[in-house]
Amino acid sequence: MRRIIAFLVIMILAGSIVLAYDFQTVPRAPTGGQAFIVRIEERGAETISVTSGGKAFGAFFVSTGTAELFLPTGIEEKGSRRLSVRVKEPGGRTCKYMHSIKVKPRKIREVHLRTSDVKMRDNQPMIEEQNRVVVGKLREVSPQRRWEGAFVAPSAHSVVSGFAVKRSGGSYSYYHKGVDFGAPKGAPVKASNSGKVNYVGEGLSVYGNTVIIDHGQGVITCYFHMSDVFVKENDIVEKGKKIGTVGDTGWATGPHLHYGVYVQGSAVDPIWWRNFTGTLYEPKPAKKR
Ligand SMILES: [Zn+2]
Repeated sequence: MRRIIAFLVIMILAGSIVLAYDFQTVPRAPTGGQAFIVRIEERGAETISVTSGGKAFGAFFVSTGTAELFLPTGIEEKGSRRLSVRVKEPGGRTCKYMHSIKVKPRKIREVHLRTSDVKMRDNQPMIEEQNRVVVGKLREVSPQRRWEGAFVAPSAHSVVSGFAVKRSGGSYSYYHKGVDFGAPKGAPVKASNSGKVNYVGEGLSVYGNTVIIDHGQGVITCYFHMSDVFVKENDIVEKGKKIGTVGDTGWATGPHLHYGVYVQGSAVDPIWWRNFTGTLYEPKPAKKR
């Protein structure tokens, strides 16, 4: 009892209130090549940042005292991931909280590139400067959240090549960092959510005609190998807007749409992302009897 009184006296003397801190991630245990949302609540926080894998990321306030941040997991990542949360209060006081989450291993599928695929890649070598520009655009983080609700598929056609398939052949060995929709030339390509066009590239040796959309807060989508492109840089696009048509430009042996989703600069599984954002923003209606 005495201790409690002493504690209360100290709190009153310090003139501060006890701030409730709450931390959660969804999903609790993501798989490699997915992402998770970190939700942190602390009333009175001025800034909240999360350090993970040696990198610090600023969280974004969604209401007073509640901040959110989407973080990716690596394709080959598994095991325990440490997260350190730093909460800064207006008076300058900083609190640090440690957490860890479990990352489940992804089953990796491997395919061998056909000779014609290797030849096509040899004929259109990767140009470092183009690659640097595209990778830089995929890593951009802008503070304004522009997406609305769940992400949708950019094509009505089916997926013919999945995410994180390991492709090797000749001197090539890499992960497929998106999904390919097997759509015919001229089929529409739609923005999978609202955002700002942060890059349009024409005739890139690898990516072909390219559109990249910044949805804000580190979430970016990209559309490669297109035929026509109907948007320009800095255009604000709405979810479902026709941004171009399917083509076979760049590293493509036939018409298809390569669609990628990036979170804080890392590629995540686009089909999983669509379902994940669906459960986040569009909860299932109650079962009909
Ligand atoms: Zn692809």
